[in-house]
Amino acid sequence: DVRPIARALISVSDKSGLVAFAGRLAAHGVELVSTGGTRKALAEAGLKVLDVADLTGFPEMMDGRVKTLHPAVHGGILAVRDDAAHQASMKEHAIAPIDLVVVNLYPFEATVARGASYDECVENIDIGGPAMIRAAAKNHADVAVVVDASSYERVLAELEEKGGTTLATRRKLAQLAYARTATYDAAITRWFAQVENDTTPNTRIFDGTLAEALRYGENPHQSAAFYTGGAARPGVATARQLQGKALSYNNLNDTDAAFEAVAEFDPARGPAVVIVKHANPCGVAEGATLEAAYRKALACDPTSAFGGIVALNRTLDADAARAIVEIFTEVIVAPDASEEAIAIVGAKKNLRLLVTGALPDPRASGTLVKSLAGGLLVQSRDNAVVDDMELQVVTKRAPTNAELADLAFAFRVCKHVKSNAIVYAKDLATVGIGAGQMSRVDSARIAASKARDAAQAAGLAEPLTKGCVVASDAFFPFADGLLTAIEAGASAVIQPGGSIRDKDVIAAADEAGVAMVFTGVRHFRH
Ligand code: 5GP
Repeated sequence: DVRPIARALISVSDKSGLVAFAGRLAAHGVELVSTGGTRKALAEAGLKVLDVADLTGFPEMMDGRVKTLHPAVHGGILAVRDDAAHQASMKEHAIAPIDLVVVNLYPFEATVARGASYDECVENIDIGGPAMIRAAAKNHADVAVVVDASSYERVLAELEEKGGTTLATRRKLAQLAYARTATYDAAITRWFAQVENDTTPNTRIFDGTLAEALRYGENPHQSAAFYTGGAARPGVATARQLQGKALSYNNLNDTDAAFEAVAEFDPARGPAVVIVKHANPCGVAEGATLEAAYRKALACDPTSAFGGIVALNRTLDADAARAIVEIFTEVIVAPDASEEAIAIVGAKKNLRLLVTGALPDPRASGTLVKSLAGGLLVQSRDNAVVDDMELQVVTKRAPTNAELADLAFAFRVCKHVKSNAIVYAKDLATVGIGAGQMSRVDSARIAASKARDAAQAAGLAEPLTKGCVVASDAFFPFADGLLTAIEAGASAVIQPGGSIRDKDVIAAADEAGVAMVFTGVRHFRH
């Protein structure tokens, strides 16, 4: 099943590795045919190469929209070699067989990514390239197709060892070829959706590539892999790891949660730090410096912070690095890190340090996917930000300015805590976080009891929740959850509102002299 290569059609936008590849083909007596730019590059390197126009009898035209779309090309690719009728047609129309098609496409994805104009994006939709790729892949029984420079070596090796390509290789190349054209068309589809501001996910919801096979999944008996792709968003997928062991499945998941949470804090407002354990924040704070923010965040729940993930909204500096390495930490993630900070973290060999180059925009649209038996659930990401919400004071007492600042802070954090979420905060730091409980009252209780523990550990006379504010990710269905929070020491409340019992809840707040604001926006997260 080895097929020799007498003639190759090469038409590539990305010309890396081209000359060396074509040179070795030519050395094996392969006749080269190319389109304009590719032909020029090969001829300049001293290779003998035919122009596609010599085959078709037509010049390239219409800004290159029509170069290879011609029976002389497509007949040469698609003709079945052992079919007498096909052979007769070839003879009749003087079509010569093409045994190898080497095409990489106009860089549509890169053109979109660099923010090119609408017209430029349209012009970068390759037409003839995918047609040749798909034709060659269909006829893999006789023809080999290469869509990526990473396959050059495989083809050359077979040519040099066996005098041609094997069926196994041609089949594999055909698979890669259709994968490429599918990805390409998916990118075009997504671009149209983006242009039209259409957030409805397309049928093809994710198109990524295998970045890494992971040692195991959430548990050692589960296999796992990390795929990257989709919309570019600064974060774990695009981060540079400066040091430390490879990230595990849980590390990746937790680091993403931490970095997405810290991205809620605009660096222009000041330094902020999020500490995450098991995908939930266990301490969040803003501070005058990153170190101050870190120490405030750590004080919320130092027990849970052990072995946690620390995310920062600014360049990691030496003081913050020194504070963080005082306890065992799994991962530090930040937009950047100073040389001094890198050196300090370097003393902890296993600690991973990731830099992302930027913070993602919390208001950006995006798609979230969750798998369930036999399908996938898809939704747009929760890009609501408390600063954009119209806060409505519903109690007799309005919150003070200090309370208001803490309320916004607490609701910002609440968005990143698994439901049912209750967040106590004071002085722009969390002082108690209740996450993932099936009852809101339990979340309120747990957060309060954790705050008592933290105060006891720190040798404080009073729980940290004394005089705090509280945020709830969804409305209080009954007054009980609110009363638990008030009992814990909350003096002001932020919540979406919208329960049929809002009246009872507001009355309970008024009776306690507590101020309450409604956001009208819910932040469920499961
Ligand atoms: P070159 O740099 O050789 O002038 O052009 C190479 C590019 O042209 C490749 O990316 C190939 O996919 C693309 N191409 C080849 N034939 C056609 C065609 O008929 N129409 C269009 N739009 N692109 C083509």
